[in-house]
Amino acid sequence: MRRSTTAGILAHAMRLKPRLGAWRRHLHMYPEPSMREDETAAFVAERLREIGIDKVTPGVGQTGVVGLIRGRRAKTVGLRADMDALELEEESAAPYRSRRPGLMHACGHDAHVACLLGAAAILQEINDRLPGGVKLIFQPGEEGSAGARFMIGDGVLERPKLRAIAALHVAMDTDAGKIGIRRGYDTARAEDLRIVIRGKTAHAARPDQGVDAIAVASQALIAIQQFIARHTNLVDRKLVTFGIIRGGTRANVLADEVELIGTMRSLEPEGRTAMVGFLKRDLRRLVGAMGARLRVEIEKDGYPPLLNDDRVVDVVEAAAKEMLGPGNVAEVPKPNLGGEDFSFFGLAGIPAAMFRLGIRDAKKGFTSPGHSSTFDMDDRRVLPIGAAMMAATAVRMLEEF
Ligand SMILES: [Zn+2]
Ligand SMILES: [Zn+2]
Repeated sequence: MRRSTTAGILAHAMRLKPRLGAWRRHLHMYPEPSMREDETAAFVAERLREIGIDKVTPGVGQTGVVGLIRGRRAKTVGLRADMDALELEEESAAPYRSRRPGLMHACGHDAHVACLLGAAAILQEINDRLPGGVKLIFQPGEEGSAGARFMIGDGVLERPKLRAIAALHVAMDTDAGKIGIRRGYDTARAEDLRIVIRGKTAHAARPDQGVDAIAVASQALIAIQQFIARHTNLVDRKLVTFGIIRGGTRANVLADEVELIGTMRSLEPEGRTAMVGFLKRDLRRLVGAMGARLRVEIEKDGYPPLLNDDRVVDVVEAAAKEMLGPGNVAEVPKPNLGGEDFSFFGLAGIPAAMFRLGIRDAKKGFTSPGHSSTFDMDDRRVLPIGAAMMAATAVRMLEEF
């Protein structure tokens, strides 16, 4: 990529600053939950047509939207943004705070959409010079609904076929103005887990006549954490967290059933195999020894781990260093045990990588982590960088793949 192209992309992104901010703030005020992003999808489609993109396809993967920028040659690369919000009550005094009770863009997907719209505007303006086409993928249902799978099922990776794909995620552990890159594992396999312990009810004063499911569940909880800490290779990164425990009806009655609901995260497959083996075999024996029965349900189609493709990461790194300077590009030292359904694109055989757009700004008070009720960012500062990075990454992918 010529240096003048990079400079032109960044300059164009800076001119888009007011529009990028307005787009993100509109989306922030009107968040929609996973797989119900109808207004967001309509907003995206309208903006794409406004930008001058003639090929806009709604309804890909239910509420997903795809735009296609045609280039000079037949090859095509992809850029992806997720669109859904979280079921969370926002705590904010900002004028653009959520207008919808119990819904909030607390993962920054509003910013992702704005950045991809910005990239679309930049790329559309230089499309007569692009060495190929760019597919703009606005994906629904990232937060637990595996929206990526719906879009892949509807053929988003075909017609035209993608040679490579990139995405960004805002990151509170990276400073605003910087780009984070990560080689290898980036996010974990994430699977919902439900454990039901069935005992036998009895009078609270005669536990010997029943099986106290609460007491058994307490043992089970400790056994699971102890198994992970003492009987698996700690170099394999994995965890089990229960966010819900339910059971019992009255203070003076033995609970006959307790339900533990949580999530299992893993990077290396060996760690997962060990945990599943324990839950299905050894925990059953342990619970059985105390007179109770066990049911273990592990989600069949959880998110696979995100494994970034080295060549795509190289492209992102080169684009970021050229555009922002080497001092503004940082290697992300560790993967995280969060889940991310962008992993489905890589699993489908397309070279794929996600990079991070830093948003941490302690001076301005932007430090609240993602998925918290006070999550926010200095959008006017970070969105132009995100839009420019998406556009430059697409151009470079077209040159390299
Ligand atoms: Zn999230
Ligand atoms: Zn997210």
